Amino acid sequence: MNREHAPHLAQFDGHHIDSWHAATAPLRERYPVLNEVIRCDVCVVGAGFTGLSTALSLAEKGLSVTLLEGALVGFGASGRNGGHILHGFAASMATFEKQLGGRGARQCWDASLEGISLIANRIHQHQIACELRWGVLTTVRNRRQQQWVQAQQRQLQAYGYHDTQWLEGQALQSHIDSPFFSAALYDSGCGHLHPLKYAQGLARAASQAGVRLFEHSPVTSIDEDKRGLQIGTPQGWVNADRMVLACNVDIGPLQAGLRRCIVPLRSHIIATAPLPAELASSLLPGGAAVCEGSPLPDYFRLTPDHRLLFGGLPGSASPQAQIAEQQARLANIFPQWKNRQIDYGWSGHVDVGPARLPQIGRQGQRIYHAQGFAGHGVALSGIAGKMLAETMAGDIGCFDVFNKLYAHPLPLPASLEDSLLRLSMLYHRLRDGLGF
Ligand SMILES: Cc1cc2nc3c(=O)[nH]c(=O)nc-3n(C[C@H](O)[C@H](O)[C@H](O)COP(=O)(O)OP(=O)(O)OC[C@H]3O[C@@H](n4cnc5c(N)ncnc54)[C@H](O)[C@@H]3O)c2cc1C
Repeated sequence: MNREHAPHLAQFDGHHIDSWHAATAPLRERYPVLNEVIRCDVCVVGAGFTGLSTALSLAEKGLSVTLLEGALVGFGASGRNGGHILHGFAASMATFEKQLGGRGARQCWDASLEGISLIANRIHQHQIACELRWGVLTTVRNRRQQQWVQAQQRQLQAYGYHDTQWLEGQALQSHIDSPFFSAALYDSGCGHLHPLKYAQGLARAASQAGVRLFEHSPVTSIDEDKRGLQIGTPQGWVNADRMVLACNVDIGPLQAGLRRCIVPLRSHIIATAPLPAELASSLLPGGAAVCEGSPLPDYFRLTPDHRLLFGGLPGSASPQAQIAEQQARLANIFPQWKNRQIDYGWSGHVDVGPARLPQIGRQGQRIYHAQGFAGHGVALSGIAGKMLAETMAGDIGCFDVFNKLYAHPLPLPASLEDSLLRLSMLYHRLRDGLGF
């Protein structure tokens, strides 16, 4: 397989990357390598949240499903992310309204809320121990951020969503003890979880529902004729009527066209050494996850073993410089954090499409895809998978609405993507820093 344009898979050495997530989710089922020929209704490629959710939903509808993962379950963004469960989209609802009208936009918004309840239901139904907690704060530290976040709150209210509360002064302090922020929007309908444990739990549920799951089985070829699809891996292949591409930023070697529709935006997370329990709970007394109110936010939360996980877009290319930079940003937020030890640092790629719109669609009659969740994938990938399964089972309702969304692919050569993204980050940081 040509892995040149597969940023996650190129890192695969048989193990998960060294992260706090991998270190704390050591027990997991193993799945075999595909070394035979299989026939099924649907072949799903990629065992991240999107592929796992699609496969599980399809099996629940009685279809025969094979799920092929090139590395390990949750090896991509799904096993590396911040774990924040967010409703809505990276793009504003105004963008949806412009393209789909009020009714279509409303259907998309409702689907995003359903993405959150789907997570809660699956955790409950399949007894997935993945540290689910509710509560997300969007913090502000200048006028510009305040206007941006308050506009978001008004937009939520216009959609009939009232689970938010504006916090200042003592009320703010009861959620976050930081001199860095002047206010925050608290949202009790969003939350956070341990993403790798959740991915592994979904895989177990899918397997129990009858999905044949294979790891270390990268798809290297897709052929189509009148009888259906032949999906090749190094040691076996799958004959299927339909397939779903859920490969995220690694889609390049299989479908260059889909890859051109997303830019892989690297996000980096550090995990501190465990803090004394009292200190940890004094920093974030309600246990909420935190996102800064900015288009390219830093995000952080506590773990059950009293670490701070702190993520954001990297300013530096070298991992050491990146860790030092994030350590300094975290120390600005929490000056009380005296022992500045960092135990883990890792990164992954966020899938961002033009206009930051999700891409859930179909090519011809047989090949479906979902990508471009732009930092909202924890909740959106699950509902996207469910929608794909529903449309394949004959109920095209919501899929059709998302399928109408369109944004022109960025005419960016891959070699320039990183530099342009860094420039745009610098621009947003400057604006945030100067408050204009
Ligand atoms: C550091 C970081 C922090 C993030 N934080 C958040 C957050 O807090 N909240 C949020 O909502 N979103 C967040 N995101 C985004 C979110 O993680 C993703 O949108 C989501 O996980 C995408 O899921 P996926 O299944 O589409 O892709 P992935 O999880 O990347 O899964 C794709 C899978 O496909 C496999 N694959 C690729 N090519 C092939 C092939 N040819 N054959 C077989 N298998 C293949 C890969 O190995 C991989 O396992 C974050 C992302 C990163 C990287």
